[in-house]
Amino acid sequence: MEDNPSKPISQHTKAQRVILFPLPFQGHMNPMLQLANILHSRSFTISILYHQYNSPDPSKYPHFSFHLIPGGLSEDQADKDDPLHLVRLLNTDCIRPTRDCLGKLLSTHDDTACIIMDAMMYSSQAVAEDLGIPRITLRTSSVCSFLAMATLPVLRDKGYFSMIDYRREDPVLELPPLKVKDIQAIRIENLNDTLKIVSNMLEGTKTASGLIFNTFQDLEEPNLANLYEQIRTPTFLLGPFHRFFSAASSSLLAQDRSCISWLDTQKPNSVLYVSFGSLAAMDENNVREVAWGLSNSMQPFLLVVRPGLVQGSEWLEFLPNEFLEVTGKRGCIVKWAPQQEVLSHPAVGGFWTHSGWNSVLESICEGVPMICSSFLGDQMVNSRYINDVWRLGIKLECGFERDEIESAIRKIMLDREGQDIREKLVCLKKKMDLSSKTDGFFGPIAKRFI
Ligand code: UDP
Repeated sequence: MEDNPSKPISQHTKAQRVILFPLPFQGHMNPMLQLANILHSRSFTISILYHQYNSPDPSKYPHFSFHLIPGGLSEDQADKDDPLHLVRLLNTDCIRPTRDCLGKLLSTHDDTACIIMDAMMYSSQAVAEDLGIPRITLRTSSVCSFLAMATLPVLRDKGYFSMIDYRREDPVLELPPLKVKDIQAIRIENLNDTLKIVSNMLEGTKTASGLIFNTFQDLEEPNLANLYEQIRTPTFLLGPFHRFFSAASSSLLAQDRSCISWLDTQKPNSVLYVSFGSLAAMDENNVREVAWGLSNSMQPFLLVVRPGLVQGSEWLEFLPNEFLEVTGKRGCIVKWAPQQEVLSHPAVGGFWTHSGWNSVLESICEGVPMICSSFLGDQMVNSRYINDVWRLGIKLECGFERDEIESAIRKIMLDREGQDIREKLVCLKKKMDLSSKTDGFFGPIAKRFI
């Protein structure tokens, strides 16, 4: 804390307002707005800073004030297929408008205690520092993936990304339990960009007044000593936030609630829910394998096909016609689901997920065993931990391959394996409930800042 130029939060006399600044992606927006709701429920006044691109809907939050960054990231500028490019833009071109907007906001709101920013907004963190406002960073993913990111430069120096000396199934000795194939998704041509973004993000968390993770202790225990060794910033594991406020109000796409009536007609624990989140992109061949894996498993399924899941597609045109005929009423397909409500529905017995962190937490809290795929970012690490360490699901080791998919679905939905995971999840949830009862949501952070 001595090295930190920002004033400690507790020294602000009229410390009542918190400004929150989410990264404009669904998986980052949800936890930030949930945290805003939690803070509001503890009597804080909330201001939200946002870009036009993927903007939240202020009408869902009449109790917050919203501040659009004029000249910030717009829909036209955004290349929706390249999240890395967007993160770069947010941290370069968007910085001047962010600074102007935040400066103005602070000059008219002298009751501001601090700003909470997404950790990926690393350049805005420097802006906050310049403006003299204490800042807390929010990391919207797991501790295990955070630590994996911190190890990437070492892995680069050891030649893991050039792949010449390594085979796909080899273990990454510096980062157990990861395998070489888990880190392969970071393509060599993006490596320098990725490493720069990651190192800026890590640096920003180290110089912040606080670091919040949307995760919980019982899950991350094995990595915490390592985390506290690397990060001296006061760190708080306060998740999962969605237990207090649902993600429905921050959904950027309209949630199709017709699937809930369909679920109402299904037997308990019989339906596999399948969704790959807001950013994943698949090719036609993968979609065909998904379709035939689902069909051959003979299990009822609720499948989310987000428009754009397959590049250039309107919606379902890449699904084989025979698949739709064969599965018929056994399947329900929607563009976007009310996910939390779906996972808590008694008919849902398994979740085939892309291993995005919010999805993982939502599945854990509803006691639903997972089948894990992964596409980008932290998903490779999350899925490896789910399979190898936490044993809360099955990772598809071959990517998208219909026989492996069919077998995983049967294991999760019909076999003892799925049942064992369900029992494990019940125990984990009990532990989580107990620790939140003992410490309360703000136990640790309140002692320090509030
Ligand atoms: N989500 C939803 N409907 C869907 C799929 C996802 O509401 O059909 C929500 C889900 O509940 C989660 C978020 O979108 O809160 C996705 O975040 P996650 O971190 O899982 O993945 P990302 O979209 O960032 O890849």
